[in-house]
Amino acid sequence: MRACTRCEELVAGRTQVVVGQTPPGARLLVVGEAPGAQEDLQGEPFVGRSGQLLDRLLAEAGLPREHVAVLNTVKCRPPGNRVPSRAETGACRPWLEVQLATLQPLVVVPLGLSATRWFLGPVTLSDVRGRVHEVDGRRVLPTYHPAAALRGGPAGEPMRLLREDLQQAVELAG
Ligand code: URA
Repeated sequence: MRACTRCEELVAGRTQVVVGQTPPGARLLVVGEAPGAQEDLQGEPFVGRSGQLLDRLLAEAGLPREHVAVLNTVKCRPPGNRVPSRAETGACRPWLEVQLATLQPLVVVPLGLSATRWFLGPVTLSDVRGRVHEVDGRRVLPTYHPAAALRGGPAGEPMRLLREDLQQAVELAG
């Protein structure tokens, strides 16, 4: 994966491939869209502002981040943090499929629309979030992306629902 050259534009712009974190025995997996600037520099997923929020909400829910697997649908940072194209998501798809098959998580939480569609197809987030969907024998519980929760502010609806959904996911994975 670290040597992948499938997406010319992403290869040209990346510092490194952000493979993700898969602590042995992790029962909960959260999946984001693609690395941002901080992730690209540090080589780890969700280490910027969104990641700090994710860490806090997971800790609040009783499952510290070090016990949670954290992956992205696309492993290289898109220039300017644009949404990955369909071609890029398709080219990267086999990597996440292998990671899922290896990790065998009990519960998967896609964060935001891109990751949700990776699992559920062309849905809208408001139609599917906060509920468990059975996909290939896996429990998939979509929710807001932490970036949306940050945009909505501490008292906003996305923050409340992200917190609630992560709590539900931690309970399911327990
Ligand atoms: N946003 C994502 O979707 N993934 C990351 O790794 C960081 C920010």
